[in-house]
Amino acid sequence: MSPSRSAMAEPTADGRFGAFGGCYVPEALIPACRTLEQEFRTAWADPAFRGELARTLKLYAGRPTPVTPATRLSAELGVNLLLKREDLAHTGSHKINNVLGQGLLARRMGRTRLLAETGAGQHGVATATVGALLGLDVTVFMGAKDVERQELNVFRMELLGATVVPVTTGGQTLADATSEAFRHWVGQSETAHYCIGSTMGPHPYPWMVREFQRVIGEEARGQCAELLPAGVPDVVVACVGGGSNAAGTFAGFVDTSAQLVGVEAAGGAAIGSGSPGILHGFDSYLLQDDDGQVLEAHSVSAGLDYPGVGPEHSHLADSGRARYVSATDDEVLHALRKLAQTEGILAALESCHALAWVLRAAGTSELPSGSTVLLTLSGRGDKDAAQVRELLK
Ligand SMILES: *Cc1c(COP(=O)(O)O)cnc(C)c1O
Repeated sequence: MSPSRSAMAEPTADGRFGAFGGCYVPEALIPACRTLEQEFRTAWADPAFRGELARTLKLYAGRPTPVTPATRLSAELGVNLLLKREDLAHTGSHKINNVLGQGLLARRMGRTRLLAETGAGQHGVATATVGALLGLDVTVFMGAKDVERQELNVFRMELLGATVVPVTTGGQTLADATSEAFRHWVGQSETAHYCIGSTMGPHPYPWMVREFQRVIGEEARGQCAELLPAGVPDVVVACVGGGSNAAGTFAGFVDTSAQLVGVEAAGGAAIGSGSPGILHGFDSYLLQDDDGQVLEAHSVSAGLDYPGVGPEHSHLADSGRARYVSATDDEVLHALRKLAQTEGILAALESCHALAWVLRAAGTSELPSGSTVLLTLSGRGDKDAAQVRELLK
């Protein structure tokens, strides 16, 4: 196998991408992870399952999402910028791709409940949405502090029929909600599927979620072939929280000459400022102090506020196939306004990290004038409007 083909292939049997990944869960959860891996493998190889997922993505989620040339902004920057529009998918981001995949898999496995953890609430809303669509009960674990901060998303989830459980242990945020969801899954894995929202967690999740998000990159590859004389862009860029929209995008281009760039939040740059460690079931770069205490991430965008990163990104960074950079909150706000006023697109703060790098790099040796760039716009910005208003005051 050539190096480019083996990049972003299946992880090893123990769930490793190079030195990262694995399945670090309590003994009681190992059978549940094994069963899930087998069930996913069988489903993914089954044309009936693939067909049902493709049909649901099309008729319910609105795929394929378009690739939009950012004409006015491109002229200003001197690069040819194309936007993969995940903001136009149902519920307003790429998260629906993964949750629909896991929801259909859970139903195929005979599970009747979905468990999820959520921080800002977006993955919780996507899970509540898919639960309603497929007739599955949904329980969402959420740190008590986040429940308070994200009142409107809690209401959305409840309106969609989900039960939101406030978690009052520890710091009462995402990390605690994740631990609680795992605890709950231990006793319920015969009836409940734990739906993880990004390319994180124990094997098989990082691999499975990347495969469910691969549709972004595969669509974009075909769309670029139509829009670009060279067929593939020089650079492919996406923001990285846990890493699912970036992994799905990169998967479509990893076997091409395109440079792959992931953009982390400066205050949550697990690859940029972290070191290897284990959190929530997997081995990866992680923000931690010298004693291995996990540090809190700080970012203007809740979706990138996680101290770790998916294990495959750690491997892509170490192998050199992808490059990881970061953007500051100020750069992100500037990028958000710029895109709104040149292209009429209000993007999510998370997505604006990728754009912030393009604005900074365009015309430099990192991104020379005349380059072609595909940027995955992971979500729409309506959810952030109130916060941006406060920040710009
Ligand atoms: C959740 C979210 C992200 C971060 O998640 P990844 O798994 O890194 O893709 C990015 N953008 C939007 C709009 C999100 O909702």
